[in-house]
Amino acid sequence: ASYIELKDVKKIYRMGEVEIRAVDGVSFSIDKGEFVVVVGPSGAGKSTVLNILGGMDSPTSGQIIVDGKEISKYTSKQLAAYRRNDIGFVFQFYNLIQNLTALENVELAIQICKNPLEPKKVLELVGLKERMGNFPAQLSGGEQQRVAIARALAKNPKLLLCDEPTGALDYNTGKSILKLLQDTCRNMGMTVVVITHNSAIAPMADKVIKIKNGRVDGISINDNPISVE
Ligand code: ADP
Ligand code: ADP
Repeated sequence: ASYIELKDVKKIYRMGEVEIRAVDGVSFSIDKGEFVVVVGPSGAGKSTVLNILGGMDSPTSGQIIVDGKEISKYTSKQLAAYRRNDIGFVFQFYNLIQNLTALENVELAIQICKNPLEPKKVLELVGLKERMGNFPAQLSGGEQQRVAIARALAKNPKLLLCDEPTGALDYNTGKSILKLLQDTCRNMGMTVVVITHNSAIAPMADKVIKIKNGRVDGISINDNPISVE
């Protein structure tokens, strides 16, 4: 069995007479340690799929299995523990707390976690050894995203979910963030899923899942993903 499996997952929003089929029967699987990219046009349902996988949103129907557990059957209390211990999130706009330093941002995030890693070690790993005492406003966009990635990784999650992590960065900075995510996958054995609107990132992934109109529009597997330099 795969590490992660989505089976015919649907998310339907009903607003009076109107029905929005945000996710309309999505199935795919992900192996442990895979670097997966999710692509597709705006409004295709990518974020909804990621949020469901991360326990931030619940599906209307379908099954989600992560590491042998059927999270689609979890109670809200179980889901909260799943989000806290098993999932690391990285967002487009970093979502750091402005009046805490880089180190304090990471320390706060792991306070109630089960198996956290050492915050200073993780900040060093993402290349911020010298900057951990800085506040977000003193850091560049790329450095702030590194803090956000450290904050997610310090939880020692089963799965790192990233929604447009390079969306607010210039090309070269974005590239260095993608390299960090790819290295995290290769070196820590982390399973990483990245949403991007940019299909140019696809050659770096082990697997590319294309979503269109709430459905899977193709899955391709790269036997030789390119390494970001
Ligand atoms: P993507 O991430 O690919 O841009 P989303 O998952 O954000 O797409 O959205 C998929 C569809 O679901 C869109 O049509 C969006 O407007 C709709 N949608 C998302 N969230 C909600 C919501 N809370 N209520 C109603 N419609 C929603
Ligand atoms: P924009 O959306 O501002 O035109 P791009 O579409 O060129 O920027 O890239 C969006 C993000 O994806 C950037 O952060 C960039 O670093 C990253 N990216 C796109 N293509 C590649 C690639 N081939 N290699 C590395 N990073 C890439």
